[in-house]
Amino acid sequence: MNRRTDLVKNQLPAQGQLILEAAEETTDGIVFRVRVKDAPHCPACSESLVWYHSRYVRRLRDLPWQGKPVEIHLQTRRFRCRNKECARKVFAERLPALADRRARETARLWEIVGVVGYALGGLPGERLLHRLGIKRSDDTLLRRVKTRGRAASQPKVRVLSVDDWAWRKKQRYGTMLLDLERSQVIDLLPVRSADSFAEWLGLHPEVEVITRDACMPMEAARARLPQSKSRTASTWFPTWVKRQSAIFSNSR
Ligand SMILES: [Zn+2]
Repeated sequence: MNRRTDLVKNQLPAQGQLILEAAEETTDGIVFRVRVKDAPHCPACSESLVWYHSRYVRRLRDLPWQGKPVEIHLQTRRFRCRNKECARKVFAERLPALADRRARETARLWEIVGVVGYALGGLPGERLLHRLGIKRSDDTLLRRVKTRGRAASQPKVRVLSVDDWAWRKKQRYGTMLLDLERSQVIDLLPVRSADSFAEWLGLHPEVEVITRDACMPMEAARARLPQSKSRTASTWFPTWVKRQSAIFSNSR
């Protein structure tokens, strides 16, 4: 029994982060009931002290098994952040390795549908996927191809850090943009101006929180975000130090 359970568990996406509670075969296909192993950090401030709030079940379509449709029923918990200064009061746990925040399918199924759409186009791709047990219309495939193209050229960033950096010290400065959740420099703007930053923000509507060095011009951010979501680096200092250390140690 344990070997069978391990066999199933090892085929799940994000397997190290999930606990398999049940596997059932229904008339519609196969259902895996899972939950996340660890309590999350707050996505806004990285606070690890969180209170359990409530839970719900999220249904995610996954890759078929032997032509049978598979659904993952993820027991998703909501938590309350205990950081009194944090703007985010309640949040649901996320598992990017399993699925995007609002997706109704797993990341690996999303990827396969996009790959088939890209390789074969709408109708031929739809026919092949149906033979494999994945029912998607040709319109869905074409939309997916377009979305993949946009996603590849514009990485999604939710918590953005803005800092200045020197092309030439004391002479010419640009703007460095960092994804604080991924600890990655994601863009370098050639100048340090509110206009160039506003233009960049216009291309990234997914940004929810912006932190900045106190001297950065933030007119663009103020126009785009509620005041509560625009913060100076000092209010984020513990997170800031931790993330910056990770970025610079990775780049060595
Ligand atoms: Zn928080």
